[in-house]
Amino acid sequence: MIKKQREKSNRLQTHQAGMRRVPKSHPKYPMIEKEHGRLHYGHKGEVAMDYFLTFLPDDKYLILNSLRLEDPKGRYFQMDTVLISQTHCIIIDSKYINGILEFDEQANQLLRHLPDNGGIEKLSDPISQMARQRHQLALRLEKHNFPPIPIASLIALTHSSATLIKTTPSIRKKVTFHTNLPNRIKEINDIHTTEHLSMKELLKLSKVMIKKHTPDKFNLLAYYKIPPDELILGVICTSCTCAPMQKKRSTWYCLKCGACSKVTHLEALLDHKLLIGDTVTNKEIRCFLQLPTPTATSKYLASLNLRFEGDFKGRRYFL
Ligand SMILES: [Zn+2]
Repeated sequence: MIKKQREKSNRLQTHQAGMRRVPKSHPKYPMIEKEHGRLHYGHKGEVAMDYFLTFLPDDKYLILNSLRLEDPKGRYFQMDTVLISQTHCIIIDSKYINGILEFDEQANQLLRHLPDNGGIEKLSDPISQMARQRHQLALRLEKHNFPPIPIASLIALTHSSATLIKTTPSIRKKVTFHTNLPNRIKEINDIHTTEHLSMKELLKLSKVMIKKHTPDKFNLLAYYKIPPDELILGVICTSCTCAPMQKKRSTWYCLKCGACSKVTHLEALLDHKLLIGDTVTNKEIRCFLQLPTPTATSKYLASLNLRFEGDFKGRRYFL
């Protein structure tokens, strides 16, 4: 049973907004585009696992997706999926990497053999990462006084063109293809027969973990050192990516391609929230959406029914 749905990380959402708002000609655009690609495909890999997790018995596991917790030493760890049951927990990490992959357990590294004798690329080691996460989750459970429970982990290769070479029985225990997840999970389930948590404790554990989930934060403009005044302003047309669209009554019109919409301005508000901040004054939103006058902006803000604080010019609206 899914207790927490999968969500896009703030880092991914912020990069999506960055791709819309940073001009393509900007010197930082290629870096944003590259990182966006990495995050986008990472998320795609996680989503690819979800179908195979639907084959798990509904009454056995509670499924928590995209869970980011703090351990008692103040270090955050992000788990793509955690399965919890009365007998054990399983952390699953998706790796969306294509090519010929070799897990080198002696040297603790993941190697990717590049095609046409292009050499070998060294990637960070997911096996040690999973060992850290099991340790951090155990610490977190201990902090909430849950009885110790076995924690297993699996690395799921989610790219359809990934090939695994030089596997050993030890690697096959730790790494699998996402298509094989139900079988591997059943094998893990079969060896854990002792109940460590009552049903009541299990539900409490799921509740506590959801409550303690802390979404990541990412300040794209600070990270790439982009001043806010270099962003594209106005509501961006989703048909031709031209900005600003013009507002007439409650509809936004594109002067270039003629497209019209009543909702595209919501994406602009989301962009402001992700890139600049989640509160605005009349002046700030007027400038960001390129609205003509303070009065038109006041009317627009009133139509959104936003929560606000303060009076007159200093009034801040919560996006
Ligand atoms: Zn257009």
